Amino acid sequence: LPSKTPNMGTTIFTVMSALAAEKGAVNLGQGFPDFACDPRLVDAVTDAMREGLNQYPPMTGVAPLREAVSAKIGKLYGRHYDPVTEITVTAGATQAILTTILAIVHPGDEVIVLEPCYDSYVPNIELAGGVVVRVPLTPGSFRPDFDKIQAAITPRTRAILINSPHNPSGMIWSREDMLRLQEILDPTEVLLISDEVYEHMVYAPNQHWSAASFEGLAARAFIVSSFGKTYHVTGWKVGTVAAPAALTAEFRKVHQFNVFTVNTPVQHGLARYMADPTPYLELPAFYQRKRDLFRAGLAQTKFKLLPGEGTYFQCVDISGLDVPEKHLSEAEFCQWLTTDIGVAAIPLSAFYGNGFDQKVIRFCFAKKDETLNLALERLAKL
Ligand code: PMP
Ligand code: GLN
Repeated sequence: LPSKTPNMGTTIFTVMSALAAEKGAVNLGQGFPDFACDPRLVDAVTDAMREGLNQYPPMTGVAPLREAVSAKIGKLYGRHYDPVTEITVTAGATQAILTTILAIVHPGDEVIVLEPCYDSYVPNIELAGGVVVRVPLTPGSFRPDFDKIQAAITPRTRAILINSPHNPSGMIWSREDMLRLQEILDPTEVLLISDEVYEHMVYAPNQHWSAASFEGLAARAFIVSSFGKTYHVTGWKVGTVAAPAALTAEFRKVHQFNVFTVNTPVQHGLARYMADPTPYLELPAFYQRKRDLFRAGLAQTKFKLLPGEGTYFQCVDISGLDVPEKHLSEAEFCQWLTTDIGVAAIPLSAFYGNGFDQKVIRFCFAKKDETLNLALERLAKL
């Protein structure tokens, strides 16, 4: 049988986590915490299960969760999304993004992605029959290059996908960046997919600027978020999409035949837990301490630190190391680092279509201090 997806490989996160497990390495590759979530969140979910909230929820998600998300977006980003017509609960950000793309991209439509980008975007666009238009972020700084973005827009451009705070670089779009994007999109009908899954992992003096806060962006935007990141439960796979009613209607047409609906007790548990904003308000300080601990340790090594404004990722340049393996490709270096040094990382080349290799790898610092310290001890040998 001829493969429909001959060029689609196995995601780097699966590959590196499997290798880390096989070799018993400290896994700083795939992004997920190695510590427990708040036990009150587990209680909230199990309470919902015990109360019998175990059957199909509404296709759009349970009302209390859509209402809680609407209230939160209103409070943090200053825009009202109607929980009935403008917010949908998804099986994580991954499904939110795929479903959005399937709902809006016609075969032959162009979709702009900014490279390096999260590894599901391009295969999603290709599955929809869209044409991927890759615009590089500025090399070195990973900042958006608005002249290049402007130049990439054609009459066939259907959408642009942005991601701030940015995986893998950790960079954050400023208010000026968002305003500039708004200005560029203003005369067009280009839709915006804004992947904001790291919205609460932002380190001072930086601030997250949601597309929801900009009238001209919000009117054309699908805003994607994920509870997995915010509440240390990546395996629960629950996220949301907020979009104007007309766009949400298109999204839901596909959503109903994609997953139809998402885990009921988890949705109720999340809704109850969200009544207290403290956990997400404290998240920046929680992760900033880990970032600082990890960066301070790496500063003692020959890895060169790249800036990190947000997310739970830290990128480093490997070209100053004293080992001959620094001349390997990023991917081979990460395999060697996992196998021989006992620390797994992700090559940045995995986030580029052409495998661009700049001798930079990504570590995830969403780990217990003892895990980070063990990794640092091993990395100090290089
Ligand atoms: N977008 C980005 C930028 C991500 O880093 C991730 C998670 N790694 C996702 C989307 C997917 O999130 P989820 O686990 O909620 O599907
Ligand atoms: N988003 C996570 C990362 O970038 C991984 C998610 C996945 O494994 N697909 O590491």
